[in-house]
Amino acid sequence: MLNEKNVQLGKVRSSIRELFEYGKKRKAEIGEENVFDFSLGNPSVPAPPEVGAALKDIVENTDPVLLHGYTSAQGDFSVRKTLADYINSRFGLSLTADCLYMTCGAAASVSIVLNAILNDGEEVITFAPYFPEYKVFTENAGGKLTALKSGKGFLPDLDLLAKSLNPKVRAVLINSPNNPSGVVYPPDIISRLAAVLDEHFNKTGNRVFLISDEPYRELVYDNNTEVPFIMNYYAHSMVCYSYSKSLSLPGERIGYIAVNNAMENYGDVYAGICGAGRALGYVCAPSLFQQLVKRVYNKTSDISVYKRNRDRLLNALESYGYEVVKPDGAFYMFVKSLEPDAKAFAERAKEYELLIVAGDDFGAGGYARISYCVSPEMIERSLPAFKALADSYKTER
Ligand code: PLP
Repeated sequence: MLNEKNVQLGKVRSSIRELFEYGKKRKAEIGEENVFDFSLGNPSVPAPPEVGAALKDIVENTDPVLLHGYTSAQGDFSVRKTLADYINSRFGLSLTADCLYMTCGAAASVSIVLNAILNDGEEVITFAPYFPEYKVFTENAGGKLTALKSGKGFLPDLDLLAKSLNPKVRAVLINSPNNPSGVVYPPDIISRLAAVLDEHFNKTGNRVFLISDEPYRELVYDNNTEVPFIMNYYAHSMVCYSYSKSLSLPGERIGYIAVNNAMENYGDVYAGICGAGRALGYVCAPSLFQQLVKRVYNKTSDISVYKRNRDRLLNALESYGYEVVKPDGAFYMFVKSLEPDAKAFAERAKEYELLIVAGDDFGAGGYARISYCVSPEMIERSLPAFKALADSYKTER
């Protein structure tokens, strides 16, 4: 007997991956330049030059046995200390090295955190649209994911959150800048969210964690867009960070979990993180890349290309009659489907060689995700196809 649940997970590709594979096939058939592939969130800008320079220096000047050896299970102390100091200087906190746990990116971070806090049957609340893997990670940790419908502009509906809290809820999991909407939750939303959780605790004694999944923290396009740091709003909070998108290093698998040491039972929670990392076999994130982020922790890839893409695509789509909530960050745009069934809309888009992902898997039917971390040339080439797709709904087919 096998674990049927995992066999199924392995057999059924996510709709994003399915579309990506279709794109590869289609490109081989009609030529790369004729397919407009907006399926994946794979950064298209290179890592900043400091990354290559630092890697070269590390490889040339570090004892290879040490460099390629195991670090502490939770990550090298000096790496964690450097990153904790950086967070403190940026957000005015007092984290120590022992608030951080180095991981293989945000996916591992979220998985470890959920395994650390969940008991069988407990609930995690998130807001739709949400990253589909949250369901997989939550269920694997024995929990149940509840996705609440968002309010206006894809922002959390906090009245609905207040009504949905119950003794089984262990955590609220947020992601801002958001995949797939690109929306950034502003400070007043985070502050009111924290107040709802505090009020729930005061009434019931049930302390709910706030977890923020932040692979897109550095990807915001306007100077006045603030991405609030949840630890400044709520003590029982944890941040799942990743360098996949900020440094364009998704294949290198490096990130961290930061646990707020202002929470009451911080020591136990951090021990739970270490224990979950151990139980999952996620100890000792890649040593070379731990050393790398110690040197380039404050660098970001050149995101001006994404901003240019966002502005060009947003303006063009609106002029063709599409409805889009302006994305302030990440590199995704969530466009309203031109028919009630977003899957049918995404299928029709394929007739124009446009590969966009139906929102259903993100818990938000009626929309489709456009991942615009692509070349500006592809954006230009794709515009007639977006126009033709919109026009096809204006004329009888
Ligand atoms: N969380 C969100 C919201 C994402 O969009 C992604 C990747 O696209 C991840 C987590 C996983 O990121 P990582 O590559 O750091 O594991």
